[in-house]
Amino acid sequence: MRRIVFLGPPGVGKGTQARTLCARLGILHLSTGDLLRSAVAQGTPLGKSADGHMRAGRLVPDDLVLKILADRLAQPDAQAGFVLDGFPRTEVQAVALDGITLVDGVILFELPVQLLVHRMTERWFCPKCSTVYNFVTRPPKKAGLCDLDGTRLEQRSDDQPDAVRTRLATYQEKTKPLIEFYQQRGLLRKLDASGTAAQVGQRMRALTDD
Ligand code: AMP
Repeated sequence: MRRIVFLGPPGVGKGTQARTLCARLGILHLSTGDLLRSAVAQGTPLGKSADGHMRAGRLVPDDLVLKILADRLAQPDAQAGFVLDGFPRTEVQAVALDGITLVDGVILFELPVQLLVHRMTERWFCPKCSTVYNFVTRPPKKAGLCDLDGTRLEQRSDDQPDAVRTRLATYQEKTKPLIEFYQQRGLLRKLDASGTAAQVGQRMRALTDD
């Protein structure tokens, strides 16, 4: 499998697993959330349109997300394969993706909802290299600083309790129906996302070694 979609609720560990899997397979990690956050940080027109939606925990409109996704997938480094992390999130996006590229498999991350809330509210990230830490399960070696480049860690504005609630509700309403969408196509593979990143990584290996 080299053209992979990660499906699952926010906070389930898709980004952490995507980085490991992409490094192992030599494929592109394409996170629409990371692309949007960098557009917001740079103050581009796209970033300005996306900012309010993201802070509130709502989805960014499909047309904006589809454009950045299609542009990124057209670049040379996407041709060897990719993990789409956080895309598609609506049926409109899933149908549009079919017109852009083939997908070999969809990994569904499964975790009880109460664990998701903890993973998000305890999550910190490096604004320079995007490495994600969890102050309970994966703390940085030096408090508040990235292990890799020493940058001061930040908390995502949408990891605050109100936005977290909205994001989980949005997942239930808009994204969960994609499970059925991909099941019907015979593409869905289920992953138990509980435990440490290393444990989940081992299960991921078993699911993707083909
Ligand atoms: P993530 O980093 O995947 O949790 O995404 C953070 C935020 O970016 C989401 O809560 C949305 O506001 C926005 N976003 C990321 N990917 C998408 C997408 N495929 N469709 C709509 N909004 C998205």
